[in-house]
Amino acid sequence: SVEVALDTLPENRSYTIHIGQELLTRIDLLLPHLPGKKAAIVTNTTIAPLYLEKLRSALAEHQVETFAVILPDGEQYKNWETLNLIFDALLEHRCERKTPLIALGGGVVGDLTGFAAASYLRGVPFIQIPTTLLAQVDSSVGGKTGINHPLGKNMIGAFYQPRLVLADSATLTTLPDRELRAGIAEVIKYGLIHDADFFDWLERHMQQLLARDPETMNYAIRRSCEIKAEIVSLDERESGVRALLNLGHTFGHAIENTMGYGAWLHGEAVAAGTLMAADLSKRLQRITSQDTDRIQHLFENAGLPVKGPRITPERYLESMQLDKKVKDGAIRFILLDRIGKASLDNTVPTLLLLETLSACV
Ligand code: NAD
Ligand code: ZN
Repeated sequence: SVEVALDTLPENRSYTIHIGQELLTRIDLLLPHLPGKKAAIVTNTTIAPLYLEKLRSALAEHQVETFAVILPDGEQYKNWETLNLIFDALLEHRCERKTPLIALGGGVVGDLTGFAAASYLRGVPFIQIPTTLLAQVDSSVGGKTGINHPLGKNMIGAFYQPRLVLADSATLTTLPDRELRAGIAEVIKYGLIHDADFFDWLERHMQQLLARDPETMNYAIRRSCEIKAEIVSLDERESGVRALLNLGHTFGHAIENTMGYGAWLHGEAVAAGTLMAADLSKRLQRITSQDTDRIQHLFENAGLPVKGPRITPERYLESMQLDKKVKDGAIRFILLDRIGKASLDNTVPTLLLLETLSACV
């Protein structure tokens, strides 16, 4: 398990991320956080038939009364209307301040449920049971919650930390291949920004990871959570080092926004975006071409795209300037100094950027 310690957290100032097989039925881990023996489980129409009964009956064996809120599935439902469905259910069931909300699902369910927990009765306990690789290594760690607005992704939200995260790697057996690979993009990112040894390990274990070998999967999840927790604890509200977690994301968001939600999975856009960041780093003479070759090979071996879609450099630029990471007009880039070390740069010459944008599509 991984301990996340944040000095903004009240009470015991940390929470635990448990990682392993079959944690869904480890109710002993949940019980300390269910003092009222009642909980609301928020999930979606895809995950409910797979895992909801398993969780509910395990809880029932321990006399925990639950009800489920089953949301429609998809990023397009990460909005105000869906959030209101959660509030409706909580009020109908007269949930009180001590009743925890359990998010059972991927990042969409986690972000919605976390935001509902942050604002229902001005805050109720929140437990994450992430069921996608992306949610296990990324969205369930760090306390960002929220919804999309028609004018921008993740624009409405709150920082709100869970009491506990249960990452059951056995749930990944039903995850579609494409979603698994998208999650691996974020795993590779952690190696690139923070841990060259982990990157080496990923080069050696990519096939086992894609085959969902339990031990390999658990290690990859654990190391990813450790790295994210370490970075987030240094900078919970993203003023400095936390920005490094956005490696490949400035380019990636431009791809996602230009192609429309859903055409590219987030992790796929991050993969192509990371290669763009690496190319730009090479043009700025920060990183060697041996390193960029290794990066490209690893993403290729993971079955991820290493080129962006063929849109004009001008359209990429336009889209990048709309991104949240733009500060006072300058685009903030996360660049690579070598495998295992990234840094921030907001002085990239536009000419070089345009070269990267035409070379990497
Ligand atoms: P997702 O939640 O949409 O899940 C992907 C798909 O897999 C969905 O169709 C889902 O129903 C299905 N699914 C989930 N678990 C499954 C399982 N075990 N078996 C079979 N199918 C399963 O997508 P995601 O990639 O998990 O999360 C993306 C979201 O996370 C985005 O909205 C993004 O903004 C957000 N996010 C948040 C943070 C954060 O810090 N809060 C970080 C990264 C991403
Ligand atoms: Zn991401």
